[in-house]
Amino acid sequence: MQEKDIYRNILQQKGLKVTEVRMNALKILDDAEIPMTVEEVFNGLRSMLSTVNLSTVYRTMEAFLKKGLIEKTTLLDDNKFRYEYKRVEHKHHLVCIGCNRMVAIEDCPIDDNYAKAMCSRQGFELTGHRLEIYGLCPDCK
Ligand SMILES: [Zn+2]
Ligand SMILES: [Zn+2]
Repeated sequence: MQEKDIYRNILQQKGLKVTEVRMNALKILDDAEIPMTVEEVFNGLRSMLSTVNLSTVYRTMEAFLKKGLIEKTTLLDDNKFRYEYKRVEHKHHLVCIGCNRMVAIEDCPIDDNYAKAMCSRQGFELTGHRLEIYGLCPDCK
């Protein structure tokens, strides 16, 4: 299966219209090591599709968000919304409070049984979790 077909299938499964912008935006988000701003996705798209405009990218991100393909996240000291592709295997990040640099960490320190227990205690159903670790990177410390 070609890479493009993977994203085409994802869009179709979610009932979204398949467009070049949407397929490529999904790929950019999927390839990203760290959550991206709309502007960053737009810049990535522009190198492939010169006719794309920013408002299309905003609408695309809203559509992805509604369908649960991506997650919206914000960072400390950064007013910009960032978007992260929802993978089966999720990532956690170290975040520098000096320059907002993010580094992906390989492991998930959240124990599933613990998360489930915390949820059931409050009558919640577990759907996922988020974790960021803050610190100062080598350049900022
Ligand atoms: Zn830093
Ligand atoms: Zn985790």
